[in-house]
Amino acid sequence: MTAIISKSKRTQKAKAGSKYTQMNPHLGRRIICPHCGNEWNFYQIAEEVKLTTRYIQNADGSFTPLNDDSRILGEVKLYCGECQADLSEFHNRFLEMLF
Ligand SMILES: [Zn+2]
Repeated sequence: MTAIISKSKRTQKAKAGSKYTQMNPHLGRRIICPHCGNEWNFYQIAEEVKLTTRYIQNADGSFTPLNDDSRILGEVKLYCGECQADLSEFHNRFLEMLF
């Protein structure tokens, strides 16, 4: 007796996310750019980042990096990936939803 497990039979198009979605304040916690309606592409810029890299010196005098440690000293800003608007007012929410 053999049990056949069919792999993913779901070929339905689950999401139709390609079309432009209207600005809708009732969409829960999604961040939507108030300027252009973009809700898919964002970027973050960290100013003044202190990067510390630890090295070990090998017997032959060469160096091998052990780990990197970055500390952000300045401001971190969130921008719209479409119209480059400053969306830092949403930054806290962005961090909450970052997994
Ligand atoms: Zn935008």
